[in-house]
Amino acid sequence: MEDKIDKLIHEYKLYYCVECGKCVAACPMNVIYDDFTYGFSSRGIIRKVILEQDVVDGEDIWNCLNCKLCEEVCPAGVKFSDFIKDAREKAIAEGHSENAAHCDRCGTYYLPVRTVSAYKHMLDKNHRPEEFTNLCPKCKLDSSAEHMKLDVFKR
Ligand code: SF4
Ligand code: SF4
Repeated sequence: MEDKIDKLIHEYKLYYCVECGKCVAACPMNVIYDDFTYGFSSRGIIRKVILEQDVVDGEDIWNCLNCKLCEEVCPAGVKFSDFIKDAREKAIAEGHSENAAHCDRCGTYYLPVRTVSAYKHMLDKNHRPEEFTNLCPKCKLDSSAEHMKLDVFKR
């Protein structure tokens, strides 16, 4: 039976990569992370996956911000951001969830720990409260609605 990762490689067209490097040039991880390396860049991960290295149990797949800029510039139609999302789901299903942030309220996985840290850092730099970075999108909406209701009742 075909392994799930093989299905993802085909589904998201990783085999079409022509190693042009446009995705790495466009990637914001380059700017955001001081320790950015080829190893966890889109190209680096695609290469490992095609060489049949197991990326699901490592840390590399937990750095991407899922901004899809790489997909927009890719001349070969590789869907790297979508691949990464599914690879993370697979990692969590296999018990590798140490790099996954789970919602403080409902416990659902919502983002990589590293992405949450990057958001917190940005919010802090802009003097914004970071209270919502620990909730999944649904709980964030619920929490906002609760705050609004409380504000209305206070009037
Ligand atoms: S832009 Fe597309 S084809 Fe070029 S290296 Fe990145 S994934 Fe491969
Ligand atoms: S989706 Fe991930 S790999 Fe692609 S440009 Fe954004 S951060 Fe980089």
